[in-house]
Formats: sequence, C-alpha cells, structure tokens
Amino acid sequence: MRLFYAIDFPEEIKSALMRYQSDLRSIGTTGRFVRRDTLHLTLHFLGETPPSQLMKAKKAADQAAATCAPFSLCTASPGSFAKGRGGEVLWLGLEPCKALLDVQGQLEDCLERQEFKKDTKPYRPHITMARDADWSTDLPKLDPLTIPADGITLFESRRDVSTGRYRYIPLHIASFCGEA
Ligand code: ATP
Ligand code: MG
Repeated sequence: MRLFYAIDFPEEIKSALMRYQSDLRSIGTTGRFVRRDTLHLTLHFLGETPPSQLMKAKKAADQAAATCAPFSLCTASPGSFAKGRGGEVLWLGLEPCKALLDVQGQLEDCLERQEFKKDTKPYRPHITMARDADWSTDLPKLDPLTIPADGITLFESRRDVSTGRYRYIPLHIASFCGEA
C-alpha cells in the first residue's frame, strides 16, 4: 500500500483553496488541478509499504502527535518546482512555521524509531495546486489564509483503475495532544 502523512484541511479552507484554483485558471493556467478532496499538506511520503507495517506506521504518527500541540499555518506566495518527471508543480507556499517543522521533525524521528527509512531530501512545505502546470503571466496572490493544524493524518493513496487517478483514503488520525 502507498502511504503518506499529511495535515488535512477543514472544509472552509478547501473552499478557499478551490477559489484560488479558479483565480489561477482565470489567468490561463492549465494543468491537472488538485481535486478538492485531495487538497493537503504532505509531512512525509512513505511510499509502497507492506500492509504488515501499517500498525508501526500508525504508531509513529501517534508518538509524534503526542509531543505536539495544535497550531496554525499561514499561507504565503505561490511558487513552483521546476519541471521534473511529473511536470511543473504549482503550489501555494506557507509562512515559516516552527511548530510545523517541529511536527515534521518529530515524525521523522518516530519513523526512524519504528525502523522506517529516513527521507534524505530536505522538507519543503507546500500545498500543491496543480501538476503538469503551465502559465504565462504573474501568478495571482491570495489573501493569507490561517489553517488550523490539529493532527497528523495517515493516508493511503490508491490508484483508481478506471480513472488512473490517485484517491486518498484516511487510515488513521493522530491528534496533537502535547503542551503548547
Ligand atoms: P499523481 O502522482 O498521479 O500526480 P498524487 O501525487 O496526488 O498523484 P501520490 O503520488 O500518491 O499521489 O502522492 C501522495 C502525496 O505524496 C502527494 O502530496 C505527493 O506530492 C507526495 N509524494 C509523492 N511521491 C513523493 C516522493 N517521492 N517524495 C515526496 N513526496 C511525494
Ligand atoms: Mg505523485
């Protein structure tokens, strides 16, 4: 099973992000826009994982979340990752947030303790808006959104055979219950 950890968003944030996607489309941006139900902030991509390790994967989220208190994220400017294998990724950035980096670091440590392999790439927090994206004018700005972060969600990413698209299934939610 293909697994990853993310911060899931409340419905009103998803609505605001969908409105931002409309702003992006209105300047002529093309690409595979992220569907409402798959908007998220990735914390760690585990990738293909034997189902026998699911308990350990949930435990890592629980252990990390137990050390962190709920916090808020604030959106920043849009940006993109240069064209790679998956085409240009257009994203909405986030203001630097120590609490987010602490959560992500705790999760990495807990995953290592559960003997999952470490991610060697630096963590670049971003909210993907569209993949294989193309645009030709300045990207529109978005009035800053405050996003509550209440916990870590472990998602399974499952490819739908008929559409070929990935669907995310929340398998486990570990709520932040540490001291602020
Ligand atoms: P598609 O690959 O068809 O565009 P997707 O990216 O939504 O679909 P997944 O590839 O399963 O679905 O990715 C799930 C999440 O994990 C996404 O946030 C994605 O950006 C992130 N992710 C996927 N692969 C990696 C990777 N190799 N390293 C880091 N993050 C990844
Ligand atoms: Mg992908």
